[in-house]
Amino acid sequence: MRARRHRLTEGSVKGDKAYLLYWMQSTQRVEYNYGLSDAIALANRYQLPLKVLFIVTPHYPDANLRHYQFMLEGLSELKRAITSLNATFCVEIGDFEATLARYWVDAAYMVMDFGYLAHHKQLRQVVKEHAERLSLGVVSVESDVIVPVEVAESKCAYSARTIRPKLLKKVDDYLEKPPLKKLSEPALKGPDFDIDTLINQLDVDRCVTHSRYFTGGRKAALKRLSDFIENALEHYLDSQDPSTQLTSYLSPYLHFGMIGPQEVYLEVAAYLDTYPAACEAFLEQLLVRRELAFNFVYFCEGYDRFETMTYPWAYETMAAHRDDRREFIYSLNELAESKTHDVYFNAAMTEMVKTGFMHNYMRMYWGKKIIEWSVDYKTAYETIITLNNRYFLDGRDPNSYASVAWLFGRHDRAWTEREIFGKLRYMNANGLKRKFAIDTYLDYVNKL
Ligand SMILES: Cc1cc2nc3c(=O)[nH]c(=O)nc-3n(C[C@H](O)[C@H](O)[C@H](O)COP(=O)(O)OP(=O)(O)OC[C@H]3O[C@@H](n4cnc5c(N)ncnc54)[C@H](O)[C@@H]3O)c2cc1C
Repeated sequence: MRARRHRLTEGSVKGDKAYLLYWMQSTQRVEYNYGLSDAIALANRYQLPLKVLFIVTPHYPDANLRHYQFMLEGLSELKRAITSLNATFCVEIGDFEATLARYWVDAAYMVMDFGYLAHHKQLRQVVKEHAERLSLGVVSVESDVIVPVEVAESKCAYSARTIRPKLLKKVDDYLEKPPLKKLSEPALKGPDFDIDTLINQLDVDRCVTHSRYFTGGRKAALKRLSDFIENALEHYLDSQDPSTQLTSYLSPYLHFGMIGPQEVYLEVAAYLDTYPAACEAFLEQLLVRRELAFNFVYFCEGYDRFETMTYPWAYETMAAHRDDRREFIYSLNELAESKTHDVYFNAAMTEMVKTGFMHNYMRMYWGKKIIEWSVDYKTAYETIITLNNRYFLDGRDPNSYASVAWLFGRHDRAWTEREIFGKLRYMNANGLKRKFAIDTYLDYVNKL
């Protein structure tokens, strides 16, 4: 599909060079990888071998050992999948620009993944400038959303209500499985790598250890999906309850591109006749809520700054309640160490620190409580983003920024006015007790 491709530079394929290059970043899989599929087609057309480059850069924004380990766990499998296509998988530790410059010397053309966050856009600009100087053709291909972001909308969508009809109208056009052919030219030799050595060698932030509860990689992602379909999908309408484990747990795998949203969509949609309401509720999250988040970070400049991430009505109500008395104030460390007076918050924080995951309903409660217990709204925002991106395996994602902004009114509406929150949606422990068997959630966390 043409709309997935964003041409970065005008150069065409140089048939006299040594190989075609595919720079894999966020789409860490072979299946439903439209960029890889394009790169293979081009390489075969020009009878060139293909190098798939994966750069592990030690100081990636906000990444720590937990994220690196999860990502690296997927690489051995990925290497097998890529070499089975006759392509060469090159894993390199280093800086993006210097590593790319080395690979560009002999590259005929480069295909790369698309990215939506500000630092992805900056990196694409740097690539564009360097590649133009070398007359290297570069195309960036979107595989991480179903409907390409500029096809879905041309501006920052106001809410799920406004983007939903557009996504639903277009979704069927973007579910096509890209062909995955073998390379016709024999593979070149690539650098060897060993995951354990890589993990030990990496000079990364080790403030958070790996999660014992999630293993990275495609095999684990597919297992999560099949377990979900087999055991939980039919009960998905009850999955709001944090005492149940009825969601898919796929967000870390979607974040690293170990599984594609297209394949998850198709696998679940196959049960639409059997469990229509449950499937529709799940697809609403996967398509509408998730792609609304991509729309937000792509089109809304300042999506990651307190001053610019939400709506005027939300800033007005926060200004009106700025001086309301806060009964409890906790520092970031007290929150991170689950040292608050609230057992439910403490449990949620413990789940996050230990597992790298938290149930959606508890994420909402957790974030709302940090707003209530911070000296001011900006401190609350920064604390929430820091903890979200430090501990969650799915953190640092478009969903992270959209969901945290939602706590402050983005994509939401004004509610009845009250202390501290003003017209922002409020949540309290009584709500948890009234709606759910919340003590079962406490038991679950205690056993972690
Ligand atoms: C304060 C707060 C912080 C959050 N931080 C993140 C984050 O850092 N990364 C992240 O991926 N999600 C985040 N979410 C959204 C949501 O909580 C998670 O995506 C979801 O809990 C992941 O669990 P799951 O894969 O089992 O979801 P499922 O219920 O199985 O849903 C399937 C997929 O749909 C998408 N999805 C589900 N719920 C939402 C939602 N509310 N908004 C957008 N997409 C959704 C996710 O990609 C998810 O993997 C946050 C929500 C809140 C309220």
